[in-house]
Amino acid sequence: MTTAREKGRQRLPFRVDPFRFAHDAVELESALPLAQMKRLSAMLYQSEGTVTVSLAFAVDILGVSSLRGRLQTSLDLVCQRCLEPMHIDVDTVLALGFARSDVGVEQIPSELEPVRVENGQVDLLQLLEDEIMLALPQIPRHVENECPASALQTNMADESADRETRSQERENPFSVLAGLKKSE
Ligand SMILES: [Zn+2]
Repeated sequence: MTTAREKGRQRLPFRVDPFRFAHDAVELESALPLAQMKRLSAMLYQSEGTVTVSLAFAVDILGVSSLRGRLQTSLDLVCQRCLEPMHIDVDTVLALGFARSDVGVEQIPSELEPVRVENGQVDLLQLLEDEIMLALPQIPRHVENECPASALQTNMADESADRETRSQERENPFSVLAGLKKSE
């Protein structure tokens, strides 16, 4: 089982000149350890696993250097309701356009996300990490009936499911609020 995963594993260059890569039409396939993405790792329940990366640099018709690709991974976020692991599959595409100046940024077509390049280089790892983080829910939470803490939530939807557990939770602050709203 590991062989297929090992196969794609190769070293991804992190500091790259996107204009040169675009000119050379560089294509990259890699499996990046999640643990290398420090900001992302800090949000995870555990940072084992890899990100399957597939990237293609190109120069578009308009002369814009672009990077298109796909990122796939499986990771465990921390549910903000119960603090238990919450599994999520990420499969996201990216389409970036590179520019050396603000004027250049304005020339990037709207289907590309503009990236201003400083000193002729970008940090590929950072860029990919940003893309994955953008694909994650802002506040990760299990769906109601899969969350161990949902029994504490007073919600009409699981009223019948968790009657036992919640018998001590009779006082529902939301129903009080709802009552206030109605009487207004
Ligand atoms: Zn949960």
